[in-house]
Amino acid sequence: MSVFVSDFKPGDGTWTVTHDDAFGGSHEGSIAPTSVSFTAKVDGGNDYRAMVITCPVCGAVSTHPMGGGAQPFRVQEMFIRQLIRLGCPCGQMPAGRTPLLAIAHARQHVNALEFVGRWQLASMVP
Ligand SMILES: [Zn+2]
Ligand SMILES: [Zn+2]
Repeated sequence: MSVFVSDFKPGDGTWTVTHDDAFGGSHEGSIAPTSVSFTAKVDGGNDYRAMVITCPVCGAVSTHPMGGGAQPFRVQEMFIRQLIRLGCPCGQMPAGRTPLLAIAHARQHVNALEFVGRWQLASMVP
């Protein structure tokens, strides 16, 4: 299906990434959270609507929408963790907010971008 974070807490500050439609079969590796980034806007800056993640094993790249596509919980958690670390590129939420504030902020975006009810993540253990 894609390259996605399958475990946010291996215990050493890294994330475990699974690439489940890799050529030859699924594989996984670990990344630093800093290597996941928002997509770039054509006119400069970052776009809050999507994030890009690169497979540490083969270099394949997946782009995930904030709404989460087929894996809402995993992708939405990735967005929340990055929103807390980086702030939101929309400029309305600074870095360092609590998970609940970040979730409320992201839910507003997804309600507008997709539909009410699309956002599923209600809480998160930091
Ligand atoms: Zn791969
Ligand atoms: Zn925002």
